[in-house]
Amino acid sequence: MLLHDRGHSGRVLHTPAGDAPADAVFAGLIDRLEKNGTLGREEFLYLLRNCRGANLRLLFDRAATVRRKVYGHTIFLRGLIEFTNHCRNNCLYCGIRAGNTRAERYRLSADEILACCRQGYELGFRTFVLQGGEDPGFADEALAAVVRAVKAAYPDTAVTLSVGERSREVYQFFRQAGADRYLLRHETATAAHYRQLHPAGMDWENRMRCLQDLRELGFQTGCGFMVGSPFQRDEELAEELLFLSRFRPEMAGIGPFIPHYQTPFGSYPAGSAEVTLALLAMIRIMLKTVLLPATTALGTLLPDGRERGILAGANVIMPNLSPESVREKYLLYNNKLHTGCEAAEAVEQLKQSLRQIGCEAVIDRGDCRKDFCDV
Ligand code: SAH
Repeated sequence: MLLHDRGHSGRVLHTPAGDAPADAVFAGLIDRLEKNGTLGREEFLYLLRNCRGANLRLLFDRAATVRRKVYGHTIFLRGLIEFTNHCRNNCLYCGIRAGNTRAERYRLSADEILACCRQGYELGFRTFVLQGGEDPGFADEALAAVVRAVKAAYPDTAVTLSVGERSREVYQFFRQAGADRYLLRHETATAAHYRQLHPAGMDWENRMRCLQDLRELGFQTGCGFMVGSPFQRDEELAEELLFLSRFRPEMAGIGPFIPHYQTPFGSYPAGSAEVTLALLAMIRIMLKTVLLPATTALGTLLPDGRERGILAGANVIMPNLSPESVREKYLLYNNKLHTGCEAAEAVEQLKQSLRQIGCEAVIDRGDCRKDFCDV
């Protein structure tokens, strides 16, 4: 149990051990969130503003129960391959933004990516996530060829792409090449907040169009946002929850904002790990079947962030499979954890720490359990 744990944004969340019951309004809202899969704006705000003590315990317990109901003790692993850190965009928060002239750029070759997959397959990974900046130097055709090669070599795996905003035609091309899933965090559910996080020329409507296209093209689609990004208030977080309750993505990537010193937001405070955990729990209760990773950013802020994420309802962990030599160059934020998994030992260790909290990492593609009725 946490005792007077202070989030990075200065907010304090108390989870003292004890028998005091959750407040009746909070408990009632959690019941309704589980039953209906959504709440009203004011009700989400109430949850966000009352995450403490017995309320927080109730929230985490319910989320873990929902996760167990849908996925049992199973945790899915994804091999994350950060294959390029070239990017044409200039997102104000991101360390690999085009404007960061001090970032050391790299791009893996198709063979290098395939070698990562080979190693990952041997370690038991059955999903590979190919993530990168929007790199004009890595042609769509080349990426599609990589997807085809991975699927041909390992037909029992899923390939997830996370390469930003593209046209519908390009998404379709990736889908035809065999990509199964696509991660595109929307970053924020409000257009006004989006404009505060991105330069002119990047627009929220296009990001939303992308998510819609991805879904229509049959990708298992992931969206998500940073917790504690600059200018985000509880009101914006309530909008995030409302958006997720409407869009009902198959995957959701939620992690704390962490400043990167070479970006315009370099001196903003990091988001709170505790608030992130509370949001993971609300999202699990609301979306039930969602594939929800305990993110690297959470692991960067808390030494036991992954385990705490799982206990708050997450069911996915994405260890890094990128070659050691490039890992520290995909620096989205300060002190980014290099969750080295190149050694079978590291995977074994991860599995062991999951066992200690009653979970089991499995060798499985780990698809979204659509068959489970979620509302
Ligand atoms: N170019 C791809 C992948 C982006 S990197 C895309 O546009 O989808 C993956 C995610 O890292 C981003 O979506 C963002 O939410 C997160 N990220 C970037 N900078 C961050 C920071 N400073 N702190 C925390 N998360 C960050």
